[in-house]
Amino acid sequence: MTQTSRAVRIHATGGPEQLVIDSLDVGEPGPGQVRIRHKAIGLNFIDVYQRSGLYPNALPLALGMEGAGVIEAVGEGVTHLKVGDRAAYAANPPGSYSDVRVMPAMNVCQLPDAISFETGAAMMLKGLTAMYLLKRCKPVEGLERGDFVLFHAAAGGVGLIACQWARALGLRLIGTAGSDDKCALAREHGAEFTINYRTEDFAARVKEITGGQGVKVVYDSVGKDTFDKSLDCLMPFGLMVSFGNASGPVAPFAPGILGPKGSLYVTRQTLFTHITSRERTQAMADELFAVVGSGDVKIRIDQRFALTDVQAAHRSLEARQTTGCTILLP
Ligand code: NDP
Repeated sequence: MTQTSRAVRIHATGGPEQLVIDSLDVGEPGPGQVRIRHKAIGLNFIDVYQRSGLYPNALPLALGMEGAGVIEAVGEGVTHLKVGDRAAYAANPPGSYSDVRVMPAMNVCQLPDAISFETGAAMMLKGLTAMYLLKRCKPVEGLERGDFVLFHAAAGGVGLIACQWARALGLRLIGTAGSDDKCALAREHGAEFTINYRTEDFAARVKEITGGQGVKVVYDSVGKDTFDKSLDCLMPFGLMVSFGNASGPVAPFAPGILGPKGSLYVTRQTLFTHITSRERTQAMADELFAVVGSGDVKIRIDQRFALTDVQAAHRSLEARQTTGCTILLP
């Protein structure tokens, strides 16, 4: 049976005005696929990179990599989901900005009853990201309770989850954010120290806070504006985890600079390398469900937009007007 769905797509890359609502036919799931009807949709900064063309894709492109809803149909070979299940996902290819879609089942997980659709839609991509950053990106000398780490954009979607998760792990997280109010929010959510990087020299402040030692890991999703100075925040053998480009892509650099700064390590990470199998996805999701279920990490949804207001949602994310998570409601 074919049905129609609204789907937000771009036919050309560019600004938020490129986001249009198309009507698409949605059929039955093939082998390894499910059809899911969304109850809520997560908005992520990666959607902006895809819309702008920073991350190139074939056009037209349906947007959105995070969502939650109810399984309507299950394709051959899918055993972990059945019709009627509550489910949530972070997944490639994009297409979650829609009423209903057919998609690969591999990254779709059953959503525990205690977690609402809105929370599920807000937390999968951002929460799995916070999880792999804090628990899988280990500096060579290990990461232990009491270690200092620096997390940029700490009051954002990934940021507020990371602040709370780091606190639960006993890490001493220094968070940066673009206003004093955002800094206060990050501290409320577990950042031990915060730095307003629009008004303060964050490298100097990090040295002060850590008694001149520096941090073991920097998690940097801001990119162009913060990368160079972030290297100056690390202790010897420290790890620079670059995982985003909210201010623009990091400029090319010579690896030679890493030696005199303390034999540093640099890695560029993406969630999608971490969730390439059903087993890995489920294991990571189980950890996320557990930490949310325990109350150690609360998913804060500060902005809700109707799907039809998707352009406004993108504008506010890009203008640094949001805090915590943002969802779209179909
Ligand atoms: P956020 O809610 O964190 O929004 C991005 C934040 O970046 C803004 O609120 C702003 O906070 C900060 N920022 C700094 N400079 C700029 C700028 N010039 N323009 C816009 N924002 C700026 O988004 P998400 O939680 O969705 O994602 C956080 C980051 O993590 C993004 O860069 C995203 O791409 C990345 N990411 C990477 C993943 C991966 O696996 N590689 C997976 C998920 C997310 P402030 O005002 O406080 O500076």
